[in-house]
Amino acid sequence: MLKAINKTNLRQLTGLIQRFQSTLVVAEHNNDTLTPITLSAITAANKLGGEVACLVAGTNCVKVAEELTKVHGVKKVLVAQHDAYKGALAEELTPLILATQKQFSFTHICAGASAFGKNLLPRVAAKLDVAPISDIIEIKSPDTFVRTIYAGNALSTVKCNESIKIFTVRGTSFEPAAVGDGSATTEEVSPSDTAGVSEWVGQSLTKSDRPELTSAKVVVSGGRGLKSGDNFKLLYDLADKLNAAVGASRAAVDAGYVPNDMQVGQTGKIVAPELYIAVGISGAIQHLAGMKDSKTIVAINKDPEAPIFQVADLGLVADLFKAVPEMTDALNK
Ligand SMILES: Cc1cc2nc3c(=O)[nH]c(=O)nc-3n(C[C@H](O)[C@H](O)[C@H](O)COP(=O)(O)OP(=O)(O)OC[C@H]3O[C@@H](n4cnc5c(N)ncnc54)[C@H](O)[C@@H]3O)c2cc1C
Repeated sequence: MLKAINKTNLRQLTGLIQRFQSTLVVAEHNNDTLTPITLSAITAANKLGGEVACLVAGTNCVKVAEELTKVHGVKKVLVAQHDAYKGALAEELTPLILATQKQFSFTHICAGASAFGKNLLPRVAAKLDVAPISDIIEIKSPDTFVRTIYAGNALSTVKCNESIKIFTVRGTSFEPAAVGDGSATTEEVSPSDTAGVSEWVGQSLTKSDRPELTSAKVVVSGGRGLKSGDNFKLLYDLADKLNAAVGASRAAVDAGYVPNDMQVGQTGKIVAPELYIAVGISGAIQHLAGMKDSKTIVAINKDPEAPIFQVADLGLVADLFKAVPEMTDALNK
C-alpha cells in the first residue's frame, strides 16, 4: 500500500535525491589565480546538495588546483593539463568536459556567467543535446532555477527536465565559497583528443592598477554627462581616493569616452559593490540591470527628475563638474 507523503518523508526523499547528485564546476583561471566568479559558482553548486567536483584545465595549472582543494564544499578537483588548453578555447575544453562527464556522470555542470562560462557551456550543452540555463540568480531546488528577464525587470523561474542540468551562475547573486577549510582530493583526467579547429594566438588585456570592475567593493561610474573621455579624469581621481574601479554607461562607451570593457549594464558587466556612485548617468533600465543590486547607490545628476534617483540611496542634484572635484578634495584633507 502506498504511504501518504508527509513532510518528514518528503524531507527524507529530497535528502536521498540530493545524495545521488553530483555537480561539476568548470573553473575559470589564468593558470596562476582562480577567477572569483568560480567561487560563487561553487557556492551555487553546494546549494544543490550532493558532491561537488571542480575541473581545472590549463597549461600549467597545479597552483590553481591546489587552491581549489581548500575551497569549502569541494570534494574532488580534476586536473587536465595540455598545450591545447591555452586561452581556454571552448572548442578545446568541450571534448574534455564531455569525456569527464562520460567518466563521472554528473547530474549538473556549471560555471560562472562570465565571458568564459557564456562561451563554453552552451557548446557543451549542444553537444549533450540539452538546453542550458544561463545566468541564474537563485536555486529553488536541484531542477528549478531563477533568472532575470526583460533587462532585470522580471524574474523567471525555470524548471529543467533535462537529464543533465547545465547552467551559468551570476557571480553577484552567490557569495564566494570560503577558501581554507576544504580538503578535496585531486585526480588527473587525461586530456581527450584535441579538436584542432582553432588556435589561441594571443590576447591584449587592459592593464590597470585599479581594482577589477566586477569584484571591486566601490565602483564610480560615469555617463554621457561627463561629455568627453578627458573628463573621466575627474572620476579616476575620485576612484583612486576610494580604491574604486571605474565603470561607465553604454552611452559613454558608444561616444568613445572610454573602452567597452568598462560598460556596466544589461549588455555590459554586472556589478554589486558595497558602494556604487553613478555620475552623470540617467538610470536607463538597461544600466540599472547591471548595478541595481549594489548595497548603497549614490547618484550625482543635475536633473532632479533623472530615473537614477528612484534607485539611489543617496542622491545629489548638482553639476558633476563642481561636485566631483569637491568630493575628491574633501577626501584629500
Ligand atoms: C538593448 C540595449 C542594451 C543596452 N545596454 C546598456 C548597458 O549595458 N549599459 C548602459 O548603461 N546602457 C545600455 N543601454 C543604453 C541605455 O538605454 C541608455 O541609453 C544609456 O544607459 C544612457 O546612458 P547615460 O545615462 O550615460 O546617458 P543619458 O541618458 O544621456 O544621461 C546623461 C545624464 O547625465 C546628466 N548630466 C548631464 N550633464 C550633467 C552635469 N554637468 N552634471 C550632472 N549630471 C549631468 C543628465 O541629466 C542625464 O541624466 C542599452 C540599450 C539597449 C536598447
